[in-house]
Amino acid sequence: MNNKLFYQDAYIRTFSARILKQERDEADQWYVVLNQTAFYPTGGGQPHDTGVIEDERVINVEEINGHIRHYLETPIQDTDREVSCTIDWERRFDHMQQHTGQHILSAAFEKLYDYNTVGFHLGSDNLTIDLETETLTVEEVEKAEELANKIILENRPIEVKWVTEEELAQYPLRKETKVKENIRLVIIPGFDYNGCGGTHPTSTGEVSAIKILDWERQKKKVRLQFACGKRVLHQLGKKQKVLQGLTKLLNAPEIEMEQVVTRLLDNGKRLEKELEQAQDRLLQYEANNLAVTHHQIVAEHFQNRTIQVLQKLARYVIAQDPMAVVVFVATNENRLQLVCGCGSDRNEDMKQLMAEILPLINGKGGGNKTFAQGGGEALVSGEQILQHMVTLIR
Ligand SMILES: [Zn+2]
Repeated sequence: MNNKLFYQDAYIRTFSARILKQERDEADQWYVVLNQTAFYPTGGGQPHDTGVIEDERVINVEEINGHIRHYLETPIQDTDREVSCTIDWERRFDHMQQHTGQHILSAAFEKLYDYNTVGFHLGSDNLTIDLETETLTVEEVEKAEELANKIILENRPIEVKWVTEEELAQYPLRKETKVKENIRLVIIPGFDYNGCGGTHPTSTGEVSAIKILDWERQKKKVRLQFACGKRVLHQLGKKQKVLQGLTKLLNAPEIEMEQVVTRLLDNGKRLEKELEQAQDRLLQYEANNLAVTHHQIVAEHFQNRTIQVLQKLARYVIAQDPMAVVVFVATNENRLQLVCGCGSDRNEDMKQLMAEILPLINGKGGGNKTFAQGGGEALVSGEQILQHMVTLIR
């Protein structure tokens, strides 16, 4: 414990140390073990520190079998001396803010609603807790956020106590501790008592602010996303940029944004419907034209038309002329789409016709006696397939 400087003082950014050993791990990564360190190793939900030892970048810190390994990009040349070490303070302080914010927010949910925190994730841009509840209302979220920020504003001290298992009974712990010896309690007097091995500032004010961003139900719990400290400003800046962009784009003030977008979406839907109706009228017109210009066998080859359009067009033609047989083929790049249908006064079997044609183009399809469709590879030209189908009908 004595060599963990981050437990003596979480604000130590630079220190000197002696290298106890430098070696490669199983994955061939270089690391050093120091006689003392302020580098926090991954643990308790808090990510590891980064920084430099002499001029070498520390890219990962892990505690394995009681030794804190400082993983390096490249090994240190001369290991038989004191080395100067600096941790990346911006990263560490961010972790201290997020981590402590989590203590405060979890305690707020527990105090107000008795919702236990059963999960915690601290990533480089994502901070979440999992609350043991199946429902969470906007009002509950607002109240918990308000209480958490009140605790920050009161700038309460954050104390650390090392206790034995017997001494634990004196404290109203938020949850049971996992370790049985060298138990480290992180205490916000009158508010939160929690076993934790992470790094924290000395008072709640340094967390600066907590903002809940979003939440969603996941099975029997609720995952809640939030931001603390500098990340709150970062989030505000990011969202402000998006909003300003939209304000210009939509030519509407922020407050009216939702109405304006709703109107735009409604407009889009209306136009889409109108377009569909207009296309439908065009298809009916085209079908009329096909019915009068062909005599009973209405056979046409098209370029780039979807099977849905061919089907519609074919149905319009046979609806108009019960004596008509329709055969449509479309060439869409290297695919052929086929549709055939016959009017109510005809007797040909369209399913049978399709079944005979599809093997020629490695195709698949189906239908019934009066209407069938399919598609396959353009192994022969669309015109040839069309002629073949017409011959089979005749
Ligand atoms: Zn903690």
